[in-house]
Amino acid sequence: MPTTIKERVVIASASGAWLTTEDGHRLLDLPAGLWYANIGHGRERIAQAAAKQMTTLETYHLFGIHANRPAIDLAERLRGLVPVADASFILTSGGSDSVEVACKLARRYWQQVGRTRKTVVLSRTGGYHGLHGFGTSIAGLDFNRAGYGTESLIPETARIPLADLAATRTLIERIGPGNVAALVAEPVVGTGGVHPPPDGYLTGLQALCQEFDILLVADEVITGFGRTGEWFASHRWGIEPDLITMAKGITSGYAPLGAVAVSGRVSEPFMSGDDAPIFRQGITYSGHATACAVAMENLDVLEEEDLVARVRALEPVLATAFGSLAESPLVHEVRAIGLMAGVQLLPDVPADEVIRGCRERGVLTRLLAGNALHVCPPFVITPDEIRFAADVIAAALDAVAE
Ligand code: PMP
Repeated sequence: MPTTIKERVVIASASGAWLTTEDGHRLLDLPAGLWYANIGHGRERIAQAAAKQMTTLETYHLFGIHANRPAIDLAERLRGLVPVADASFILTSGGSDSVEVACKLARRYWQQVGRTRKTVVLSRTGGYHGLHGFGTSIAGLDFNRAGYGTESLIPETARIPLADLAATRTLIERIGPGNVAALVAEPVVGTGGVHPPPDGYLTGLQALCQEFDILLVADEVITGFGRTGEWFASHRWGIEPDLITMAKGITSGYAPLGAVAVSGRVSEPFMSGDDAPIFRQGITYSGHATACAVAMENLDVLEEEDLVARVRALEPVLATAFGSLAESPLVHEVRAIGLMAGVQLLPDVPADEVIRGCRERGVLTRLLAGNALHVCPPFVITPDEIRFAADVIAAALDAVAE
């Protein structure tokens, strides 16, 4: 096992669930890049699909009367995968774009149908929604909103509690339901430390949104494409959002791409009998042909190798292996769901030392909010590798405890 690793590891290559650093150390990739490497690294067939598309037509944007075949095929295919009624798609370059577009569209929808006071966007305490204007303004982690001065953030946003339906109802009633446009929620809060929803929480949230005519936006940038053992976390917890934001797992990180699924209700005032379920507006690389071809190949891999079912099968292995870390006197709590977990250390535990200890023993992890170690490996990880990772974290914790 390597004993000296430079502070900043530079990843030179990767295969499956494993990374190799520039100086030759092998590390098990617990963060899956940044929650995205669902099908694992180094897939030759993805590279071939990208090369084939690039040498045919690298991209052609989607505005106006033209499109490109991979973008149309991807939108048609996503339509069959998302739990959104009669979905259309806005294709983007990543998760922050998707959140920005979804929040703008939610507000615009209410303007369009004449309910012009509905402008407030709610979000969950602890949530993360990217770096753009809306994502920053609705961030549920205070440090992501700090430092800009309130005047440079988008007004008319408010935070609901992490998982308290009664308090959320009270807040909505105080703001006035007639003023609320949308509620944005990660089904499983990710960057905030991996918080799975309590039983009944998401259906309760959806019921509140329906009662007060608030658009529910599920931010599935992390949970989309299998991470919780269903194609979307919305499937797992039985909700049907008005909009779903997605990115990351849509290409497993092999190309930058995001999407917003928009329900028929919300798209109806803006669509005019289009033949493809794609909005005729967007940004330059909306529907980038190579990124869409990569996404199609990624979906083929997920389907052919039955990787979403694999996540379901590995869920108890991960829960047991990482759950046992809760016995460490340095650990406050372990929260696990699907193939993701947050190992929350006590506030005064030097997480940097634990992370360094893991690296020295062959496992890469990083820190999430609340002093939690980030666990969300590629779906191709084996049960033995899961147990190895948990053992390594246990050893690193022991070494720090001594
Ligand atoms: N939403 C969620 C839930 C995310 O986790 C992230 C990224 N970690 C984003 C949005 C932003 O995505 P991106 O970094 O691709 O812009």
